[in-house]
Amino acid sequence: MSADQRIRSGAAVAASDIRRPHGHYDEEGGASAQARVDSALRSFVLDVGAVAALRLDSCVHCGMCAEACPFYVNTGDPRYTPIHKAEPLKQAYKREAGPFALFFRIFGLKRRVTISELHEWEELLFDSCTLCGRCSLICPMGIDITALIQDARHGMAEAGLVPRALYDKASAQHRTGDALGKGREQTVRALGQIASEREVEIPIDRPDSDVMVCTTAEELNAYPDTVAAMAKILAHTGTKYTFCSRAVDGSNYGYVEGSLAWERENVTRIVDAARECGVRTVIMPEDAYAYVALRWEGTELFGEPLPFEVKHISEFMADELAAGRLRLQHAAGEAPVLLHESCHLIRRGGNDSEALLRLFEAMGLEAKRPADHGAFSRCCGGGGGVLENERADPLRYRVFEAKMREVEATGAEEVVTCCSVCRRTFDDGVKRFDWDKSVKGLTELVAEHLA
Ligand code: SF4
Ligand code: SF4
Repeated sequence: MSADQRIRSGAAVAASDIRRPHGHYDEEGGASAQARVDSALRSFVLDVGAVAALRLDSCVHCGMCAEACPFYVNTGDPRYTPIHKAEPLKQAYKREAGPFALFFRIFGLKRRVTISELHEWEELLFDSCTLCGRCSLICPMGIDITALIQDARHGMAEAGLVPRALYDKASAQHRTGDALGKGREQTVRALGQIASEREVEIPIDRPDSDVMVCTTAEELNAYPDTVAAMAKILAHTGTKYTFCSRAVDGSNYGYVEGSLAWERENVTRIVDAARECGVRTVIMPEDAYAYVALRWEGTELFGEPLPFEVKHISEFMADELAAGRLRLQHAAGEAPVLLHESCHLIRRGGNDSEALLRLFEAMGLEAKRPADHGAFSRCCGGGGGVLENERADPLRYRVFEAKMREVEATGAEEVVTCCSVCRRTFDDGVKRFDWDKSVKGLTELVAEHLA
């Protein structure tokens, strides 16, 4: 069956399977409409500043960002144009803080943002954006639209206007340090269970380690084999490493949900744990959002370089391969695979696709890539909290349909991804469309090829 047939049959079967949304928007907490508007505006004005406002003004309306955005391209809906998603910031800044703010207010040239507009923006900012960064890459005026959307999310979080499921994970992580709310003891027990069931050593709080490793609550839950694979690879390379019981979950739902306070709290937990362990390097799990939140946002939040090096697990594997400590063997007769290049790892995270390709080469595997790859790769549609947000399911599936066609065009039978958020999105898509592709994480694939 072709991708198009699958999409059609999947849509027919599963229209009723799509998880029921709570509504068109969610409200957290009991603040009044006025208080929400005030909080959002305060944050928009603080975040946007004069420089960002100037950048917004330099937009020449060329439409190139629209053509880059998977949500616009796959729906044709002009509301999903990236620069339109940053509109609340512009409107708030001009009316409240810009040099002509008084003039705009007196003559009523810029209306005050209303609660119903904020409700509408909640969908635009959270349901139709994965923070994939393609719009920022393509804008000829150099406007970092993705960063503006992130700034707008900060205001929405301040106003308690974020999707419920995303808020639930961010607040569980705030309360327990774990996005699934399991807490320290249960998380350590889960690591112990993976170690005994898969016969690998998983050190926890081991003194004199050089490297601290994080996983995520989601990976522990959905992909325990990936956690075991990390342990096998680290042991194979002779790395003196440990998990730290106070920072096993390296994910950062504060980052995707927009709460700066919770984002900082999550980064601080990892930084404190790494300091306590005295390590020189922190290896982040496949979740590329966890990696970007610590490596890039962390430095910004602290205002100084982190006291250790941060590597994504795929980056660690590529470096170990180059150093000759990771030895991989060819397996005979394996079919070509599709390498899905995560937006957050490659485009936003600044990692090198070529280094990943060398891992495939060392395993004797042909890695196919779609026509748009590397920094221009197309998003799977589930990152940035979209996968968690059931309200966005119909929209996300539209984006995933395009991804399916892209994979089918390469002829690959298996998709290999280096990000566990993409992997969860693909796994969900395989189920939703009864798609005949298998999906695997790169770490597991490498562990299977250890020499
Ligand atoms: S690509 Fe840049 S200049 Fe063109 S419409 Fe988008 S934001 Fe404006
Ligand atoms: S970051 Fe990606 S998903 Fe979000 S508006 Fe830009 S292109 Fe669209």
